[in-house]
Amino acid sequence: MQVICLDLEGVLVPEIWIAFAERTGIAAFRRTTRDEPDYDKLMRWRLALLREHGLKLADIQAVIAGMEPLPGARAFLDALRARFQVVILSDTFYEFADPLMRQLGRPTLMCHRLQVDDAGFVAAYRLRQSDQKRRAVEALKGLNFRVIAAGDSFNDTGMLGAADAGFFIHPPPAIAAQFPQYPVCSNYAELEAAIDAAAARLAD
Ligand SMILES: [Mg+2]
Repeated sequence: MQVICLDLEGVLVPEIWIAFAERTGIAAFRRTTRDEPDYDKLMRWRLALLREHGLKLADIQAVIAGMEPLPGARAFLDALRARFQVVILSDTFYEFADPLMRQLGRPTLMCHRLQVDDAGFVAAYRLRQSDQKRRAVEALKGLNFRVIAAGDSFNDTGMLGAADAGFFIHPPPAIAAQFPQYPVCSNYAELEAAIDAAAARLAD
């Protein structure tokens, strides 16, 4: 039995914070872990910025509801789900991802949670588990599944390494160069073919 683990942002949907910056016109939200490598610091800064602009969770969800999955993402995912069990492993938050997951037909998603205060502002975030992508793949393997994983960035390399087969889809060139062991696919058709070939190779 095989399970496909896919990253969400940059693979099936746009980078949520970058799209959020574009839609709100608040460029400061474009700041990412490339600008601030300390994720905790970055998230605290984002939550403060949301509050500064009076943006509550409902406002954020309304903005995200206007976003769409990447072109072809839904068809790619539906085609995969017709043949495999698919799990989305993401470092986003359920409360942010929901409008996009609805448009993707609500595949299984494992990510993190936000804490919202009585006034509706995002007060804090809760990582369900550190290094959760890698640990999810290891747990699935412990359940006797073969795992094929695909992602687009640095935070996917743990799950790609833990999987029986791991692929990049359109990663930043510098990250692909740093991890040459993972084949690079440039679009959904290539990734689907790579997954099918890996699945055939891993078949019991
Ligand atoms: Mg990503």
